[in-house]
Amino acid sequence: MESGKNQLQTQPDASKADLRLRDFKPRSMLHASRTPIDTPRFPVIDAHAHLTWTTNVRSGVCVGEEVTVFAEPADLLPVMDRKGIRTMINLTGGVGKGLEESIRRFDQAAPGRFLTMTEPSYGLFAEPNFAQLQADAIEHAHRVGACGLKLLKSLGLYLRENIDEGELIGVDDTRFDTMWEACAGHGMPVFLHVSDPEAFFLPTDATNERYEELANHPDWSFYGPEFPSNAEILAARDRMIARHPNTTFALMHVGNGAENLAAVAACLDRFPNTLVDISARIGELGRQPRAARQFFDKYQDRILFGTDAVPPPFGNDVPQQLFCDELYEIYYRFLETEDEYFDYAPAQTPPQGRWSIYGLGLPDAILRKVYHDNAARLLRLPHE
Ligand SMILES: [Zn+2]
Repeated sequence: MESGKNQLQTQPDASKADLRLRDFKPRSMLHASRTPIDTPRFPVIDAHAHLTWTTNVRSGVCVGEEVTVFAEPADLLPVMDRKGIRTMINLTGGVGKGLEESIRRFDQAAPGRFLTMTEPSYGLFAEPNFAQLQADAIEHAHRVGACGLKLLKSLGLYLRENIDEGELIGVDDTRFDTMWEACAGHGMPVFLHVSDPEAFFLPTDATNERYEELANHPDWSFYGPEFPSNAEILAARDRMIARHPNTTFALMHVGNGAENLAAVAACLDRFPNTLVDISARIGELGRQPRAARQFFDKYQDRILFGTDAVPPPFGNDVPQQLFCDELYEIYYRFLETEDEYFDYAPAQTPPQGRWSIYGLGLPDAILRKVYHDNAARLLRLPHE
């Protein structure tokens, strides 16, 4: 039988109940083992980095040729050498003269250490002969040394009929068919970002598991009648891929379906011309380590290592992408160790959701493919 005093003490402490979410920073009391991984077991190709960016962006769509350069090779190579990164792929190399500058600044300045991809020429989208102009732009990009084509999430979410006004343009719009086919013709893989995390299509409210992230970046929310649903965007992607069996599509961020690995597996099974990268998604993969481990076992030849790294100061806003030693150490720890319950990003408050991750402990044969060999095969790089 409890005393009156104890009953009083079980009353909630009202002064403590209204702690603000942003002030809640619990420290784990779990005495889990910690296995730091300074260098990867095999050389790494980071297949997803952003070292340049098109300067002129209109309503979320890159237009024009001028590029902003985020860093010089001299800024990046010391980290790459310390962290075992043989090659970085700069996905947002731009188009036309800007692309040529990106290639000069990176690929040609440090041969073998950097490769550059081109992007669609959205600035030309309103031209009546866009399909031909875009095919020509891919031919130019191939000639000047671009290793592939990268798409940001523009199609389905940003690009409109008159670039920044009118109806949204889906990824299956037939005006891009010549672009996909030109990539196939020149042996250039397409690195395709379509849609975004499922939570970004839901209200930013108390039930949204990425509430803090969306509150910090309201422009990342695609909730509302002005946007298609996540399912509609992914269905358009699948219709487009089905029309282009000779083009190779690497689906960025685990196909933007890391929360639903069964759906990603179904896509990989349906389309043999697809792969995925893991960039910016170890937070998702690492909170379901058993399903993720099975996924890596089954699709070990079709997974690319990538981080989405952006050098400072531009990367400072998004901690899970900031190019630094710690970013790579976390990825290596996730892939190589069986450590439990650790942060997926170099930041105190988790930037995607409030959870921790568990390492996969992948065997050497899979690590070697994911770190290096799958990307080397795709991009026709030397194997050892
Ligand atoms: Zn990216």
